[in-house]
Amino acid sequence: MDASDPPTPTTNTGPRKFFVAGVEMEFPVKPYKCQLSTMNMVIRGLRHMTNTLIESPTGSGKTLSLICSSLAWQRAEYVHMKEILEKEAIENAVKFEEEKRHQMQEEQDKMQRKQSQKEEEELQARRKADEGRVIVYYDDSEDDMEDFQLRSKKIVKMKKIMKDSSNVVRTSSDSVTHTPDSTHTTGQEMKHCSTLPCQSFKNGVCQSPCSVPHKEELPTQTDEAPDISIQSKLTLDTSWLSPQDGFKHSEEVTCCTKPQVPKIFYCSRTHQQIQQVVHELRKTVYKDVKMTILSSREHTCIHTPWRGHSFRNKTEMCCALLDPVEGPGCMYKNGRMSSHTALESCNLESPWDLEDLVQAGRRVKCCPYFTSRDLIATADIVFCPYVYLIDPKIRNTMNLQLRGAVILLDEAHNIEDCCRDAGSYSVLYDDIFQSMKDCKRVASMELLPEVHNNLALFLNNLMNWMSQKIQCAQQHQTDREQTEAGILGGANAVASFEEHYINIETIMEFKRNVMEAVAETNNEENVQQTKKSFERHGILRTTTFVLEGLSLVFCFMYDNKMQHIWDYYVVVCKNSLVGSAARNDLLSDSTNANGRSRLIVEEDVPHLNWGHYLNFLCMNPGVVFRPIADVVRSIVLTSGTLAPLVTFNSELGTNFTNEMQALHIIDENQLWVGALGSGPRGKELQASYRLTDMTDFRQELGNTILQVCKVIPYGVLCFLPSYGLLEALRQHWLMSGIWDELEVHKEVLCEMRGNKDFLPTIQAYYSSVRQCELGMGKGPLLFAIMRGKVSEGLDFADNRARGVITVGIPYPHLLDIQVGLKKKYNDANIKRGLKSGSEWYETQAYRALNQALGRCIRHRNDWGALIIIDKRFLTEERHLQGLSKWIRRKMQLFPTFEKLHSSLRNFVQYHNPVVPEHIAE
Ligand code: SF4
Repeated sequence: MDASDPPTPTTNTGPRKFFVAGVEMEFPVKPYKCQLSTMNMVIRGLRHMTNTLIESPTGSGKTLSLICSSLAWQRAEYVHMKEILEKEAIENAVKFEEEKRHQMQEEQDKMQRKQSQKEEEELQARRKADEGRVIVYYDDSEDDMEDFQLRSKKIVKMKKIMKDSSNVVRTSSDSVTHTPDSTHTTGQEMKHCSTLPCQSFKNGVCQSPCSVPHKEELPTQTDEAPDISIQSKLTLDTSWLSPQDGFKHSEEVTCCTKPQVPKIFYCSRTHQQIQQVVHELRKTVYKDVKMTILSSREHTCIHTPWRGHSFRNKTEMCCALLDPVEGPGCMYKNGRMSSHTALESCNLESPWDLEDLVQAGRRVKCCPYFTSRDLIATADIVFCPYVYLIDPKIRNTMNLQLRGAVILLDEAHNIEDCCRDAGSYSVLYDDIFQSMKDCKRVASMELLPEVHNNLALFLNNLMNWMSQKIQCAQQHQTDREQTEAGILGGANAVASFEEHYINIETIMEFKRNVMEAVAETNNEENVQQTKKSFERHGILRTTTFVLEGLSLVFCFMYDNKMQHIWDYYVVVCKNSLVGSAARNDLLSDSTNANGRSRLIVEEDVPHLNWGHYLNFLCMNPGVVFRPIADVVRSIVLTSGTLAPLVTFNSELGTNFTNEMQALHIIDENQLWVGALGSGPRGKELQASYRLTDMTDFRQELGNTILQVCKVIPYGVLCFLPSYGLLEALRQHWLMSGIWDELEVHKEVLCEMRGNKDFLPTIQAYYSSVRQCELGMGKGPLLFAIMRGKVSEGLDFADNRARGVITVGIPYPHLLDIQVGLKKKYNDANIKRGLKSGSEWYETQAYRALNQALGRCIRHRNDWGALIIIDKRFLTEERHLQGLSKWIRRKMQLFPTFEKLHSSLRNFVQYHNPVVPEHIAE
């Protein structure tokens, strides 16, 4: 979802009702063809429990289609469920009547028997009396009658209960809602007759997973109101330390007898994008759906800064405030908005966005962060950044139950990287050392001494192993050689660990000990002791992070008979893992907008602080994604630029049965696409890594961009493959005078490394566009980096980008050791169905290129030109195949600049016949 997505059709406005794939739905406007296709694809996937890939260009109304189709399907499921329940209730009532009749018949028979017996006995008695003897008989017929009446009353009462229950289709923490009409969406929880099988119940076996915890898995209150205490109890739940066990524990695989309507998780990349989705939801008839938005404390904490303390972020502050030892607590923690009914009483009606929630939280003095988490239990749709679902640590902290759920992942073009990051882990040697000391301290307090001593021993063994690897690596000359010496394939690492008593048994024991240590630390008694004595009774928070991180990654590697051992590399190297976005920006020539972890050696960036890290690098995104795909009902991956689609099945280890690449909704004449092979002076423009170093190339490229800027009015974006190339070109053009010429026609700006200058640069760019619109400026030219921040999610609608120029193909940087390892891994696993290393490498480049090109057309009435400068697109067909379908089919190939120039000029003049004087040539 991008900021301007989706558009509103200009004609035939007004809500529409129609059927898509057998589901009745209401759409706020007349849908475009591509929207109908998207909705059809989504509903078919949900109905058949299959997974779907959808590429639909920005501005084609993808978000609205996703929301309407999924919620319409969910509403239909509720109606379907109601019908099942009603049918079941009727069947039960008939059964009940039969039983009652049968019972009454039996009672009558019994009474008759007794009556005959009595008469017989009276006869006998009379005969005996006649013989002069007196006998007293006890008559129990009255008791029988009372018994019968009592039972009859019970039957009537049961009948009444049956009748009532057949009208109740759901209960929630908020209310008991009676049978809704078909236009009202009800919540997730449903009360059912326990004998009622779910929809997919066949031959006594449930054919489909169920989204709600089963009988065995959680305490009985799971069917009751969502209890905050459950949340707090679950913070002690460390079952997730085993990735697979995490699912088994809380989402049993065994069959259920309760039918469920699946919860929908709508995930995007950023909060801004989620805000836009909520904005779209407001336009639909499904807006009263029970919802929640998950977010970090950065966006939702309402506590004022804690005076006298400085924290890096609000998460740190909240943890410190709620710390059982030093923390004074937070007055907002236990507010009164923990249910959807409570929200309504606080005047917060669905659909709300985070800002609304925060405002309501301030009004009623209740923490919005914990509120949004409490609402998960009763929400029909949950919005969150997709890392919340993908990362097992976050998923379990938030207690997200995915079994049987529907997952819609928007902006999913980076999902593979995201999964690999979630399956990887990195820890500093010093942090392991501190954790070991902490475990020893707790053991000395006689708190589960055996457990904590075992943990300390395990960490000690791990440090010994690391030390040995560091010593071996130091025998090499250069940093790069040292780093390479510290790389072990998963299987080699396992053999090497074994020498230091780190094996499957000790790891399983380590996992158990971690769970016990964490539970002990959170134990109420220890918390109270900690408060009283001002000494931590249990392990430190930092130790918990280290232990849980190690436990999780070891489980990924060793669980399930070590099936993922080949999917890992273990690397010991000098502080070269870059985890934070800040350091990433400092380091990278190809900064990743995701802030992905990357491995670079000290020689490349010597000015940082370096230490020794132990890195577990996951090469297979399926390690993390597959367990999710296995338990959910259906996953839909979508993005404006998902192409090439070929790697998703193999990389994610998941079968995407349905695929769709939609065309753009704009008219033919609104988009111009051209690939250029040579510049105005006839020099070749082949933007390969080697040739971009050549003076001729740089000069010719500068001239080409200058000429294009003379033609295209308002904002122009020019994307380059790396910061290094941008800087080199800038230097060259400053010296040659091209930079000055560019400044005559455009206000020239550059996307710089790091966050510091990003916002001012974007503001200056937007401001320059506004000035130009007012006839007071020449419009901006922004040099940006593919995979940089400008290329992801920013809005460049209308005059903000009338032209997008790309130079070259942004292959991932080979300086990043992870890239080299991933290529190697794929080459070694072609037999398992993976694409070769070079195919994977190219796919990554094309996705980044498509993402940059996607900045231009943002809605139905937008227009713009895409200029791809690289001769390789004219000579090698495979590069064209890497482009999104809507770009590819408009592609024109221009071996020379003249033809491109005149075609482009015609295109611009068609849309902008009156070119302002100050930007005319
Ligand atoms: S409980 Fe909520 S409001 Fe209080 S510090 Fe934590 S996040 Fe902020």
